[in-house]
Amino acid sequence: MGATEAKTVHSPALTYFSMLSLLSLCPPFVILLWYTMVHADGSVVQTWNFLKQHGLQGFLQIWPRPTAIAWKIIFVYGAFEAALQLILPGKRVEGPISPTGHRPVYKANGMAAYFVTLVTYISLWWFEIFNPTVVYDHLGEIYSALIFGSLIFCVFLYIKGHAAPSSTDSGSSGNIIIDFYWGMELYPRIGKSFDIKVFTNCRFGMMSWAVLAVTYCIKQYEANGKVSDSMLVNTTLMLVYVTKFFWWEAGYWNTMDIAHDRAGFYICWGCLVWVPSIYTSPGMYLVNHPVNLGSQLALYILVAGILCIYTNYDCDRQRQEFRRTSGKCKIWGKAPSKIEATYTTTSGETKTSLLLTSGWWGLARHFHYVPEILAAFFWTVPALFNHFLPYFYVVFLTILLFDRAKRDDDRCRSKYGKYWKLYCNKVPYKIIPGIY
Ligand code: NDP
Repeated sequence: MGATEAKTVHSPALTYFSMLSLLSLCPPFVILLWYTMVHADGSVVQTWNFLKQHGLQGFLQIWPRPTAIAWKIIFVYGAFEAALQLILPGKRVEGPISPTGHRPVYKANGMAAYFVTLVTYISLWWFEIFNPTVVYDHLGEIYSALIFGSLIFCVFLYIKGHAAPSSTDSGSSGNIIIDFYWGMELYPRIGKSFDIKVFTNCRFGMMSWAVLAVTYCIKQYEANGKVSDSMLVNTTLMLVYVTKFFWWEAGYWNTMDIAHDRAGFYICWGCLVWVPSIYTSPGMYLVNHPVNLGSQLALYILVAGILCIYTNYDCDRQRQEFRRTSGKCKIWGKAPSKIEATYTTTSGETKTSLLLTSGWWGLARHFHYVPEILAAFFWTVPALFNHFLPYFYVVFLTILLFDRAKRDDDRCRSKYGKYWKLYCNKVPYKIIPGIY
């Protein structure tokens, strides 16, 4: 697989434009979002007026410098997560076979790491050893340090990809921007067993989502002496989602993020900076906006959110169970309907994959993105509708997943050829049954 393979979905001009735009716009956006949520009442208009009045100087004034305490928090958290990844026991799990015939092996200890992390963090607060409000109070400095630290980390990934790749799934596109942005290695490791993408995506990125959700809740409690029902719904739904993620982490190692997207700015910087800042932002907003929903409305939103998270999980579970049993399982109580698709690997071998065409996967080719987007809506809606910014994540996720559906469809079309066409004829909708 060439490093550029998945990147030719859009025209080269659009590809370069979007890569350079994201490289230059994402870092300042993280800071502006944090500033608006924490210091401008969540109001885009307020931030806009400030910038209009003070220009670039004002923007530089907003941008917090990384401080010693920010670096300390990031370093201790990162080292703790890396240690858990290495030390905690877990079942040996094999990832999917790569196009060069390489099969990565993992230790499935994500759920244990998640449990240990949350229990440790909450205990530190409970026993007054470390107050999570410190994290909230230095959030801007932490994001600033993460932005620069993660950029340096991506340079390290680029150099490692050239100088010391960990497996055969590595290569240069011949273009420095593409190599930096999309990455060079599919499965970079330090030593034999420390998987870098498991660390960046799961143990640092996804774990920080749960840790920050708890932080926002504690901050509101410490500031007001109680937690609003809107914050409770938001935190509970985010924690259910992240718990689901770690419950299913070994399944995540079969998805595009791990099995197709290489370790570069797009995935690694995204998981190290974008996930802790943007994904958690509805909770960040609620800290200073303790909306009271009333128990009935709060309960409706909570149940709707949990149903969406469950449906999203069930879609992933169905596909993986189907593949694991080679189609010898029940889908919605019946034998699955399927397509036996053959394809050729880069080494010229012919292989077969099964495509499920019933159950959730018979409704649309990427139906699982619908409950994913709805779940994000339900953990945001407790913020009600005074400001747009808390909804930024839902809008971003919708664009990301619609683009992902296109990227995945194009990749599968080139992998499976006529068999993918057959699947598209059988299941004509991409995401929303009957509509798109
Ligand atoms: P999927 O789990 O949808 O996997 C896509 C792959 O599955 C395809 O590349 C193909 O791989 C295989 N496949 C496609 N159709 C079928 C079929 N009918 N039967 C069997 N296998 C099929 O990938 P994602 O990574 O997009 O999603 C995984 C989860 O992560 C979802 O729950 C999604 O909502 C979530 N997600 C969340 C994001 C967020 O930012 N919150 C971002 C992205 C995803 P193969 O080559 O093996 O055939």
